[in-house]
Amino acid sequence: MLRIDNLCVRYGGIVAVRDVSLEVHASETVLLVGANGAGKSSLINAVIGMVPAAAGTIAFEGRSLDNVACAMRARAGIGYSPEGRRVFPSLSVRENVLAGAIGAGIADKRERYDWLCGAFPLLAERARQPAGQLSGGQQQIVALARAMSAFPKLLLLDEPFLGLAPVWIDRISDAVRQMQGRGTTILMTEQMARPALRLADRAYVMRGGEIRRSGSADEIRAAALADEYL
Ligand code: ATP
Repeated sequence: MLRIDNLCVRYGGIVAVRDVSLEVHASETVLLVGANGAGKSSLINAVIGMVPAAAGTIAFEGRSLDNVACAMRARAGIGYSPEGRRVFPSLSVRENVLAGAIGAGIADKRERYDWLCGAFPLLAERARQPAGQLSGGQQQIVALARAMSAFPKLLLLDEPFLGLAPVWIDRISDAVRQMQGRGTTILMTEQMARPALRLADRAYVMRGGEIRRSGSADEIRAAALADEYL
């Protein structure tokens, strides 16, 4: 579904992503694991079109995303939940969630919204509350639901566990499983390998802008036991 070949991302003289190639197949959950500054967000931002690729190609469903604007990538079926949640604080929970569907040009939002409320009861309980008043974990649920509200084919989750207590990591993991249950293809980044590997089919380990290792979640878990990224 997603194929990245020899991608490079640069900020002036800084090389954030160096010659990275990876694939995400339909209905898989793939994890990009690595420490702060490894280049994970830069790679995700290149897929959504927020930063340009300095070199290499990104293809979605067999078509190159070169010269495809961010909004058109969303309409093509790429959903995105940013690092640090970034909900719209003064908009209600409901408005935040619907913003995702509107951004992707979805006309019939009702059925999708109802499904999301069933999957994540918090959305119905807090529908009218400004999202900025929620806890960090609750905001993360809203950010996931916003990304999910267009029912994207490919969902990009940038560090969904960042700054959350273990109880919220468990709840966010359950939310991700709900999305997997719908057959959603997921590419997620995390520094916290242990809980993220429980959700993943395969993983890539990123360091210094490069892929250092790849394999099944079990292989990466076994390899990581002796390393510092678990
Ligand atoms: P984090 O968990 O901190 O987000 P990351 O693995 O997502 O880490 P990136 O945010 O992609 O890594 O950063 C990769 C490198 O690019 C780092 O050296 C970072 O300082 C640099 N970088 C990221 N964004 C910018 C920017 N807008 N301008 C300049 N350098 C940047």
